[in-house]
Amino acid sequence: MYHRVIDPQDITNRYTQAGMSVTHSTFKKQVAFLCDKYRIISLRELVSDLREGRKPAPHRVVVTFDDGWQDNYALAFPTLKAYRAPATIFLTTGAIGANHLFWFLKVGMVIAECSEIPPALRNAAPGGTEPELDRALEALKTMDAAQLEDLADEVLMASNLSADILSRKRWMLNWDEIREMSASIDFGSHGRSHAILTRMRPQDAEAEIVESKREMEANLNRPVDFFAYPNGDYDATVRNMVERAGYQAALATRGLAGSSNLDFFALGRVGIHEGVSCGITGGFSRALFACAIHRVFPFR
Ligand SMILES: [Zn+2]
Repeated sequence: MYHRVIDPQDITNRYTQAGMSVTHSTFKKQVAFLCDKYRIISLRELVSDLREGRKPAPHRVVVTFDDGWQDNYALAFPTLKAYRAPATIFLTTGAIGANHLFWFLKVGMVIAECSEIPPALRNAAPGGTEPELDRALEALKTMDAAQLEDLADEVLMASNLSADILSRKRWMLNWDEIREMSASIDFGSHGRSHAILTRMRPQDAEAEIVESKREMEANLNRPVDFFAYPNGDYDATVRNMVERAGYQAALATRGLAGSSNLDFFALGRVGIHEGVSCGITGGFSRALFACAIHRVFPFR
């Protein structure tokens, strides 16, 4: 499971968590390694093998990306194409095309750019006047989803960040990019707003699951069969809503596909970021990357 593929020179990288990104050069090495030592198969192939009771052959991997970041098109897609590697990108439909800022991006911008953290953020995410991004975001994720959106807006407003900073780049994919990629990339839903579904009213969570599928199918003209839970969070209610909405499988962040009690609506993934393959000298380590894929160490 990837999120962002970044250019290390981009000064806006510090707005998102380090655990969400891999540099373009490392990504290329990771894909080259996967193609050399494994076979990258599509999520569709994996799910149909599992559904038909076939145990996936060893050394098969599936590549997925969450959220729908623009860099998936600009940096990841050319590499995937060069290696003819299939992948699935899970889109947050409410963020497509617009100059959308997720609540965690707003908080990240404020923490990175402001010399003084607005009181509303300090109060909601205790940790002193210089909260680290990871710690602040983890604290905020325990809030009700609607209140969290309001808080992020309030914090951004109080920060008085310049329009220049706020509109520095388009963060998310647009439909043209998605359609261009759709010849070789599959797209799944990651909800409409990226709100954590277990922290919403059930009818709102259901709307996220159902409406995002409908919108994607209307735009892509093909079925959207896979869902990835925002933040990996689900419970029995949310899981059943996804199944009822007509998806074939849903991906979480923990657990492993292929375990004895296989639930197609709780397939696990391994989080991949720069740190998982960064060796002692700071370069790409094939051995460490292999350990990450096989979960030898308890990486985040
Ligand atoms: Zn996400």
